[in-house]
Amino acid sequence: MADPKGFLKFSRAEAPKRSYDERLGDWREVYAALSTSDRKAEVSTQAARCMDCGIPFCHSGSAGCPLGNLIPEWNDQVRRGHWDQASERLHATNNFPEFTGKLCPAPCEAACVLAISPDAGGAVTIKRVEETIAEVGWEHDQVQPQPAEVGTGHRVAVVGSGPAGLAAAQQLTRAGHEVTVYERDDRLGGLLRYGIPEFKMEKSVLDRRLGQMRAEGTRFVTGCEVGADVTVPQLRADHDAVVLAVGALRGRDDRAVPGRDLDGVHLAMEHLVPANKEVEGDGPTPISARGKHVVVIGGGDTGADCYGTATRQGALSVTQLDQYPQPPTRRDDDLSPWPTWPYVLRTYPAHEEAGERKFAVAVEEFVGDDEGHVRAVRLREVRVERDADGKRQVVPVSDAPQELPCDLALLAIGFEGVEHMPLLDGLGIELSGRGTIGCGSDWETSAPGVFVCGDAHRGASLVVWAIAEGRSVANAVDAHLTGASDLPSPVHPT
Ligand code: SF4
Repeated sequence: MADPKGFLKFSRAEAPKRSYDERLGDWREVYAALSTSDRKAEVSTQAARCMDCGIPFCHSGSAGCPLGNLIPEWNDQVRRGHWDQASERLHATNNFPEFTGKLCPAPCEAACVLAISPDAGGAVTIKRVEETIAEVGWEHDQVQPQPAEVGTGHRVAVVGSGPAGLAAAQQLTRAGHEVTVYERDDRLGGLLRYGIPEFKMEKSVLDRRLGQMRAEGTRFVTGCEVGADVTVPQLRADHDAVVLAVGALRGRDDRAVPGRDLDGVHLAMEHLVPANKEVEGDGPTPISARGKHVVVIGGGDTGADCYGTATRQGALSVTQLDQYPQPPTRRDDDLSPWPTWPYVLRTYPAHEEAGERKFAVAVEEFVGDDEGHVRAVRLREVRVERDADGKRQVVPVSDAPQELPCDLALLAIGFEGVEHMPLLDGLGIELSGRGTIGCGSDWETSAPGVFVCGDAHRGASLVVWAIAEGRSVANAVDAHLTGASDLPSPVHPT
């Protein structure tokens, strides 16, 4: 039984971070490496703030954890010092809790009952507890391969090795199927490898899990564009089911902005992917921020990743632009006292290190020099509102434009869905109006025996949703192949 007054005894405490100088001198994670005993002592007081609510809003529901993470249970195990049991409960609902502990913006914390009242001292630091349980589990050799005892003889192809594909593959392998994950890039991990910078999650964390999956029997094929290197007839002949976990990487662009085609104006991923490859040892990126004035357009996670990457590359200045005001307010029509996420200002460690954020502004023009390279960004103050049809409108509110020096502009204004790929043509799958792959209530697409999960189905979303959909599609594929499935299915197709 949790201590219902724990939150009155202990204050919320964030994980300590390394100094700015140290962080900007390398690519390693921003958080300080505490000894295991110090970390366990600190985190157990944080877990002791949990009241084990009768209705734990953190745990599920429309605003809580999509995985249904057993948060009050593992908080209590940690409070008691039962770290091994906590790890067992954590892994019961989440294949990769260290990924979510490091990367998820934690809708569970926004949903925590202690987040509602300012007098309660803030939400339980669920993310920090989760990540620490996962790391202690690895240190205690508790995270071991779990190979299936009996094989089914069914073969499954998973296309894409991001978090959704990996979660689906691990679940299906453990259920006894022969699973092959196909990845078009040279290394595994999808966005976890080449989208997420090292300072948010070091790649050794990903490689450690891939090692576990290999030991369980999952096969991986890299550098393989399914639909070209492996034809669709081959894919169909070699596998009894196919899971599409190809992501939603088609970056939103705005070609209508004057100057968009100037040199030095790029989509965010054109910057992040080679930057991550450079950190992996693949040689210098062609789009470095070193010695440049960098303007990041877009106030979300990807923009923050560009921001921290540009700072570490040695930018002269970094400015991130957001069309929304500071702080973004909760919706006017939302009168409930419940979660404010994502209608609150989200600040990332990268924002503390250097640079500047500008709110309620929009780019009016990229201004070029005589050689066709961007030299400035012209901005205008704006207000975002809805028109009579409910469509989002960006309305200028000032007559006087501002100009920012800019040698490198990075567009981080979202993603528009699945990229064009020969695989979809070969399977006869058409994209929805949102640019995603539709499916029925059993995750099966319009192509029989072909299933979809993650961003490819949902559109660009959180790592926790990718894992939840990966687990759920595994249940559906297992049932499709064997007639019934005991695998968990935490979420349903939207
Ligand atoms: Fe604990 Fe907060 Fe979840 Fe309640 S809502 S069970 S206090 S983490």
